[in-house]
Amino acid sequence: RFDKDFGQHILKNPGISDAIVEKAFLKPTDVVVEVGPGTGNITVRALEKAKKVIAIELDPRMGAEVTKRVQGGPLAKKLEVILGDVIKMPEMPPCDALISNTPYQISSPLIFKMLAMPNPPRVAVLMFQREFAKRLVARPGDALYSRLSVNVNFWATCKHIMKVGKQNFKPPPKVESDVVRIEPLLGSARPNVAFEEFDGLLRIAFNRKNKTLRADFSVKEVLALCERNYKIYCSLNNIPIDESIADAATAAGDNMDIDMDGNDDDDDDDNNNEVEAGNEMEEDEDEDEDMPTFFKEMRDAEAAKDATKTPSKNPKSKVALVVKAKVNKVLTNTGLGEKRARQCDQNDFLKLLLAFHEEGIHFS
Ligand code: SAM
Repeated sequence: RFDKDFGQHILKNPGISDAIVEKAFLKPTDVVVEVGPGTGNITVRALEKAKKVIAIELDPRMGAEVTKRVQGGPLAKKLEVILGDVIKMPEMPPCDALISNTPYQISSPLIFKMLAMPNPPRVAVLMFQREFAKRLVARPGDALYSRLSVNVNFWATCKHIMKVGKQNFKPPPKVESDVVRIEPLLGSARPNVAFEEFDGLLRIAFNRKNKTLRADFSVKEVLALCERNYKIYCSLNNIPIDESIADAATAAGDNMDIDMDGNDDDDDDDNNNEVEAGNEMEEDEDEDEDMPTFFKEMRDAEAAKDATKTPSKNPKSKVALVVKAKVNKVLTNTGLGEKRARQCDQNDFLKLLLAFHEEGIHFS
């Protein structure tokens, strides 16, 4: 019996298991990580091609199945089974290739976990629900374009390999599937920025992907995060906070008000129905389910910090004004302030991140 809570949809078509392994172009020297081996349909094929397969399985019954399947045979010594939740592992074991008929609950965290590895695998061949796979290859302007799309295309190249109908699984899932091949950029080709920094910026931008970036950066919690990180950056690097920036901005009559409700007053009128519909879908099924939590965490952290301090009589401190002026400067100088996340490609986001870093503003 298969457990739906574990996303157990076993591949019953051997041709698909073969194709998944084939598309990884394994070498005899490769160490492969397989997430969710189940009964071992993909595992045995990978064991035939690679030096070693590390199979990470949440369900001990399945762990026992895959072990039994190779027991006593020549492949047994090449198989290591780790029982546990791959997402909760502090680090994924280093490997040359990652393969998985991915349990749908962990599609997004698994990709993020792999992309964040300092030394990611050379290749990942992964099967996902079709809707999720479409997000991976979405481009700016597409309804499914998201934080996930930008990250994947920034840290890797991603190609659609094949469609897989639901009748190929037991039990059949509700939706169709797709296999994709992801090739992370390695060595000197890997972008020279911290994963958490780039992703931190994207979290802010895609929290409301149809708003302008300037509106995103007017949200109180976002400015609080920038301010907190700016203070840490200045203190770690012994940089005095240049309060003259705040004075100059105030004298120039810049609007320093912080958008408390995060509403974008200059909301766009170029939104056609298609994009709106796409956005609704994103709100319902957004892979960034942690987004509200993320902002809640930021708020809670701020509140906890404030609780330990004497309440300030002047909430808009000079540092807050300095940070707000720096944020405005970056958004204006990069020419990206009036753009919306859904229109920006990975180069826009990199340009934005580097400009923020120039000003000492960080996101992780
Ligand atoms: N690889 C097999 C196949 O293709 O026939 C089974 C794939 S099935 C879609 C997903 C497998 O992942 C199940 O065996 C399930 O128990 C396992 N699994 C679910 N969540 C997991 C997690 N967080 N970490 C590791 N394995 C997980």
